[in-house]
Amino acid sequence: MMRTLATFVLLIFAASLQAAEPVRVDSVRMWQAPDSLRMVFDISAEAEHKLFILSNPDRVVIDLKNTQASGLKLEPSQLDQSWLKGMRSAARGKDGYRVVLDLHRRVTPSTFILKPNSRYGHRLVVDLKGSETIAPTKTVSNRSPVEIKSARDKNSGRDIVIAIDAGHGGEDPGALGYRGTREKDVVLQVARKLKALVDKEEGMRAVMIRTGDYYISLRDRVTKVRDSKADLLISIHADAFKNHKARGSSVFALSPEGATSEAARWLAESENSADLIGGVSLDDKDEVLASVLLDLSQTASIEASLDVGQNVLAELKGVGKVHKHRVEQAGFVVLKSPDVPSILVETAFISNPDEERKLKTSKHQTKLATAVMTGVRGYFSKNPPPGSLLAMRNAPKQAHVIRAGETLNSISRRYRVSMKTLRDSNELKNDSLRTGQVIHIPSV
Ligand SMILES: [Zn+2]
Repeated sequence: MMRTLATFVLLIFAASLQAAEPVRVDSVRMWQAPDSLRMVFDISAEAEHKLFILSNPDRVVIDLKNTQASGLKLEPSQLDQSWLKGMRSAARGKDGYRVVLDLHRRVTPSTFILKPNSRYGHRLVVDLKGSETIAPTKTVSNRSPVEIKSARDKNSGRDIVIAIDAGHGGEDPGALGYRGTREKDVVLQVARKLKALVDKEEGMRAVMIRTGDYYISLRDRVTKVRDSKADLLISIHADAFKNHKARGSSVFALSPEGATSEAARWLAESENSADLIGGVSLDDKDEVLASVLLDLSQTASIEASLDVGQNVLAELKGVGKVHKHRVEQAGFVVLKSPDVPSILVETAFISNPDEERKLKTSKHQTKLATAVMTGVRGYFSKNPPPGSLLAMRNAPKQAHVIRAGETLNSISRRYRVSMKTLRDSNELKNDSLRTGQVIHIPSV
């Protein structure tokens, strides 16, 4: 089937046109997420542009009006095997400029403009979305621990799901260290180490909210947490402050009313402004409404968040200094999942040269991840979610003394408990029972 020329025009952005000065396209950056590719063009002013797709072969065309560029290029290393074959650009007509993205597959593109902020000037963001998963080998290795674990007998109780959110990513580097270390990189490394520890833990499994170097809006992070049916969200960050001496870990929970300290309020504001840097498309504009709706049902989970947060903070004291001795509260958007206890861990001050150096080392990252894991384990051993393996283990058990002629099978039928559950909860190596043996019957 031959599809030619413009299939449809997606978006026409009408900018104010009084400025006759041509817009310059200075550079382009790109970030690959599992289901999308984001390209960010640095432009000198808002540019009127339109975008359309062509097929045979698949490509996306962006036409900018009143625009100039000087040889916009991607390095061969930037070309992506799943998405982008190449990028071409040239002057078009009297004062126009055309960028053509040659693609490996069909995509759904969208564009939006980001206004200047403290870090960048005007930007034109092009998002290419595709439904097919990329890099199948990666997906398999990401999923295999989950699949292995979920293959367990249903009667054994479900896994506790820990959602791990590495802050920032892609266009948003987060806080910058004294020597240029980027928060987005070190927090992803700590998050991966924590995921490995959680997946090793019996009765728990981790879900990573961000798996690579790309940005996810704060609201989308909340949605991912809810979709994963998480029992807990841990959002991992690294702090920065203008005073390079500030140091230590902090743990935060959501406060719907207001921040417990001025510093907490300031920090929440800087973390919440990530969307302005990382980029949120126009269809995210109901963010405020969504937050208000979410607020209604989360009071109960805040108490649990403070509890788990206190456990984690106590463990972090063993790794190094803590900034505050109690869990602080402020209005972090990423913590706003109703019914999901959520904590934000500021691992250290990346702005402190000594802590920055430590944060980059695998050894210190492991210490941090281990402390968080120990705190989480401590919390869930006291508060196992209903239906979880841990809850089943902790449930009061009935004792049954084996009489002559009884088998594991007959006890299984009598108490309506699977043989597997009986074996697991009594740590039986085989099914043979002896008269007088005491068997614990879990109340499932
Ligand atoms: Zn952060």
